[in-house]
Amino acid sequence: MADRSDRCCPDCGADLDLLGDEEVGALVDCPNCGAVFEVVATVPFTLAPFVDEEK
Ligand SMILES: [Zn+2]
Repeated sequence: MADRSDRCCPDCGADLDLLGDEEVGALVDCPNCGAVFEVVATVPFTLAPFVDEEK
């Protein structure tokens, strides 16, 4: 059973309102604080901060 509470912004706690079919490697941005996260696992659904520092 999916728990939507897992899909909130790790930074501000806002509901990210994901579709639930995001794949590993997908990027998700928070509509509230603008932080960007990468989906690192789907079971359980896990987000990690996405740091774009390889420019
Ligand atoms: Zn946020």
